[in-house]
Amino acid sequence: MGTVVIQRIYHKEAEKIGEKVKKRIAEIEAKMTINKPGGEINALNDTSGKDYVVLGDDTLYVLDKARHFSDISNGAFDVTIGPLVKAWGIWSDNPRIPQKSEIDELLELVDYKDVLIDKDNSRAMLKKTGQVVDLGGIAKGYAADEAINIYKENGVESAFISMGGNVAVLGGKPDGSPWRIGIRNPKGSQGSYIGIVSVKDKTVVSSGEYERFFEKDGVRYHHILDPKTGYPAESDLTGVTIVSDLSIDADALSTATFVLGLEEGMRFIEGLDGVEAVFITKDDKIYITGGLKNIFEFKDESKEFEYVEKR
Ligand code: AMP
Ligand code: MG
Repeated sequence: MGTVVIQRIYHKEAEKIGEKVKKRIAEIEAKMTINKPGGEINALNDTSGKDYVVLGDDTLYVLDKARHFSDISNGAFDVTIGPLVKAWGIWSDNPRIPQKSEIDELLELVDYKDVLIDKDNSRAMLKKTGQVVDLGGIAKGYAADEAINIYKENGVESAFISMGGNVAVLGGKPDGSPWRIGIRNPKGSQGSYIGIVSVKDKTVVSSGEYERFFEKDGVRYHHILDPKTGYPAESDLTGVTIVSDLSIDADALSTATFVLGLEEGMRFIEGLDGVEAVFITKDDKIYITGGLKNIFEFKDESKEFEYVEKR
């Protein structure tokens, strides 16, 4: 999935369980990626505009979740962003800036409402030829949820998994205290944090322009696209972190909220049950949703950020 996976499992068979998780992650990637040939999502994309394709329960579940979050975010998250992700070459070795005319043409193909899901027959179809589903903004979250399920099935009571910007924890730390998850400083190096959330049985998922980008003529182009324009989202945020129960939800929501920006994103997340967020703005301010007051600790070693208490 284009990232490093770190697992901490407290159990006498930790290594065996960790291997099971690795296998499951590889399986999910093989089924759902669009960056390598084969798999179910490629089959769905290759048959766009023509026919339904039978999908496994897991792929269907992720696709259905992706369509749901596309819907409730009003298309800020759009699972059919694939043609643009490919045109920009975000996951390739040679990213490029497409012509405006090319972008405008491809934008015609971006519409999550064209993802037709026929649950009774375990199949799905994309309405228009050339449409491409990209689960890159949500599949890591699903993989993290699956990891937690595997830990539970194997009798683990305390575990941690991190995959790029996605963290999920089972239980608390072995001593019973909450896990302390650092929220990365978007402007700093990988080890520098702006704060910590203390959680048990939760997921903490971040999206930000620092995660993947390329530079051309001094301009930085990042990997989260605005489905309305086809260009990297001109968000007033540099990063956003979602705290919730399911990592698949948090993953889609972090990508969506980044596109929405501070004001709309705050309204969006405050309107959802059981979901909280930390917002980091381009002008170095930090905002949180109400439910995080007691579990978020502002801790900025760089002294560049200002913590804004809620209005
Ligand atoms: P994340 O790192 O979870 O925020 O997801 C970013 C990835 O999701 C990108 O690398 C693309 O593969 C894909 N993506 C980019 N923009 C969007 C969008 N607006 N909606 C859905 N997926 C997107
Ligand atoms: Mg995401």
